[in-house]
Amino acid sequence: MVISGPSGVGKSTIAHEVVDRTDAEFSVSATTRPPRPHEKDGRDYLFVDRETFEKMIADGELLEWAEVFGELYGTPAGPVRTAIEQGGTILLDVDVQGGKQVHRTMPEATFVLILPPSDEELARRLRGRGSENEQQVRSRLAKAQEEIAFADAEGIYNYRVVNDRLEDAIDAVSEIVTQTETSGT
Ligand code: ADP
Ligand code: 5GP
Repeated sequence: MVISGPSGVGKSTIAHEVVDRTDAEFSVSATTRPPRPHEKDGRDYLFVDRETFEKMIADGELLEWAEVFGELYGTPAGPVRTAIEQGGTILLDVDVQGGKQVHRTMPEATFVLILPPSDEELARRLRGRGSENEQQVRSRLAKAQEEIAFADAEGIYNYRVVNDRLEDAIDAVSEIVTQTETSGT
C-alpha cells in the first residue's frame, strides 16, 4: 500500500502508528538525505551516500526511486516482494513520482493520498517539526500544491485522508489496511 502527500502532512507519523496497530510492515526507503535527530538508520530510512544509492540503482535493487528536494529516495524491492509473496501488507511512504512508478508495475496496489486540513496548518506542522530551515520549508510548501495537483491528474490514488485529528487519520488508514489485506501492497 502506497502513502503519499505533501511534506509535513504527517505521513511518517501515521505510517509508523499504523504499523504498530496492524499487521502491516513499513518499507524502509534508502535515502541520501541526512538523518533527523529522532530518526534511526534501518528503521526510518537506510541512510546512504550518493555512491551507494547509485550502486543500488545500477544493481536493480530499487523498485522505484526519485529525486525529491535535491536528495535521492528509493524503495528496496526485496522486502516488498517478500511481503507480497507472504500475503502481507507493506506500507510505502513515497512521493507522487514514486507512487506513479509503483502504479506502473503494481496497479492492483492501494494508493492513499494524505491531505492537510489547510495550507496554514501544513505550514505550522512543517515549521513545528523544526527539521528544515526556512528556505527548505518554503520550497516544501511551494511544492505541496503541485504534488496534490499531480496526484489528482494521475488519478491513481484510491483513497484520500485528511490528516486533521491525528487519531482519526490513523484510524482511517488502519481501516484501509484491514480492508485491503488481501491485495498485499
Ligand atoms: P511527513 O512524513 O508527511 O513529512 P511528519 O509525519 O514528519 O510528516 O509530520 C510533520 C509534523 O507534523 C510532525 O512534527 C508531526 O508530529 C506533526 N503532525 C502529524 N500529524 C499531525 C496532526 N494530525 N496534528 C498536528 N500535528 C501533526
Ligand atoms: P522526507 O525527507 O520528508 O522524509 O521525505 C521527503 C519526500 O520523499 C516525501 O514526499 C516522502 O514520501 C518521499 N519519499 C520517502 N521515501 C521515498 C522513496 O523510497 N521513494 C520515493 N519516490 N519517495 C520517497
